[in-house]
Amino acid sequence: MRKMRFHLIIQPFYYNYDFIEDICKNSKSLYKIMKVEILPKIMLPKYLLLSPKSPLAKFFMRKRKMVYLEDLLGELKKLFAYDSKKIILAILPHYILGFGDDLAGLTPEPNLSIVSTYGINERHLSKACVGISLHEIGHSLGLRHCKIKGCLMKAPCKPKNFYKGVYQLCKEHENKLIHMETQK
Ligand SMILES: [Zn+2]
Ligand SMILES: [Zn+2]
Repeated sequence: MRKMRFHLIIQPFYYNYDFIEDICKNSKSLYKIMKVEILPKIMLPKYLLLSPKSPLAKFFMRKRKMVYLEDLLGELKKLFAYDSKKIILAILPHYILGFGDDLAGLTPEPNLSIVSTYGINERHLSKACVGISLHEIGHSLGLRHCKIKGCLMKAPCKPKNFYKGVYQLCKEHENKLIHMETQK
């Protein structure tokens, strides 16, 4: 397979997550993505962050703030100009977000896919985050879900699918990738 002419941009929020290197390595070998760029970490603007309001939410969230997905998307759209050859992966403390074409705001239906990493055991967190990220990148490349056990694109995308640190695609998805590249 020739190299994908995609450019993967990884934007970490708040921390320099140690698993980002593994995302780069695996997205290069799995998806043949030529160029991966890791942006310096940034914070979310303060106005986006809301304190939990209800007593129950306060109990669960403690000092953590929440953010409305709509607002977050709006902010990300300001940060990244749409480019069909760019794949944006946003990594937040409790979420990993992948975007399809929606970053342009061209479609009313957000082509956004989001997986919560909240509550994953520390021991498994890195591997789960790498797997989820590769799943999200798969979506950005146009891959859909499948039902095949052991495939990265299996739905639902559960963190525990990746605890072993095995990241691979089923034959059908692999063929789809090859097909996609030869079409261009
Ligand atoms: Zn998915
Ligand atoms: Zn598959």
